[in-house]
Amino acid sequence: MATDNFLLLGQKKRMIEQLRQKGITDENVLQAFDKMERHRFLESLLWPQAYEDIAIKLTTDQTISKPSTVAFQSQLLEVSKGTKVLEIGTGSGFQAAILYAMGAKVYTVERQIALFKRTKPLLEKLAPSVVTYYGDGFKGYPQFAPYDRVIVTCGAPDIPQALLDQLVIGGIMVIPVGTESQIMKKIVKISDTEYEETDYGDFLFVPMLKERVRK
Ligand code: SAH
Repeated sequence: MATDNFLLLGQKKRMIEQLRQKGITDENVLQAFDKMERHRFLESLLWPQAYEDIAIKLTTDQTISKPSTVAFQSQLLEVSKGTKVLEIGTGSGFQAAILYAMGAKVYTVERQIALFKRTKPLLEKLAPSVVTYYGDGFKGYPQFAPYDRVIVTCGAPDIPQALLDQLVIGGIMVIPVGTESQIMKKIVKISDTEYEETDYGDFLFVPMLKERVRK
């Protein structure tokens, strides 16, 4: 954080306190929020809002998720150093960067070329080991499978089989499922055919859409 930004530094500390109050207890998550500055993922005009617990529009139809949602999904994912994570929905890159700051090896997939092109160089600078991929998240990223964890950051109409297939046995997937609104699900892969599913309340995400797009 540049020394001319004491204001943002104070706001970041308050945001981390709010995350604690909202039930985030994983110190690895809280430390990642301290290390990775959310305002870097936004245009400077939006910096005054960077540390409020709100989703912010990046383009007409895409958003950077709320800090508390990013923290909640990161906590459910049970990440430690070296965990191999596949993320669907790169968007601003902030969620991928938080997982990177937690020590994960992250692979992230985005279907919109404009967002992909904007975020790739940003992640190269702020979270250099993250691998970015322009593709359709419904198909996952088979080239580097299997993954210890899968995190979906857009509202999925159902649980894509390809993503379950790309998870190791014992692996965890965190995915918001639903069309109008979503229920956050944590799925543990017990065997190639058995899964244990737990629900974690209602959320609102932009929809997971099929196929890559050139916009
Ligand atoms: N993780 C992001 C959240 C961005 S919003 C962040 O931290 O900012 C969700 C993103 O999912 C959008 O960028 C959207 O384009 C993308 N998305 C939607 N459907 C997708 C799909 N099938 N494959 C990959 N990305 C998808």
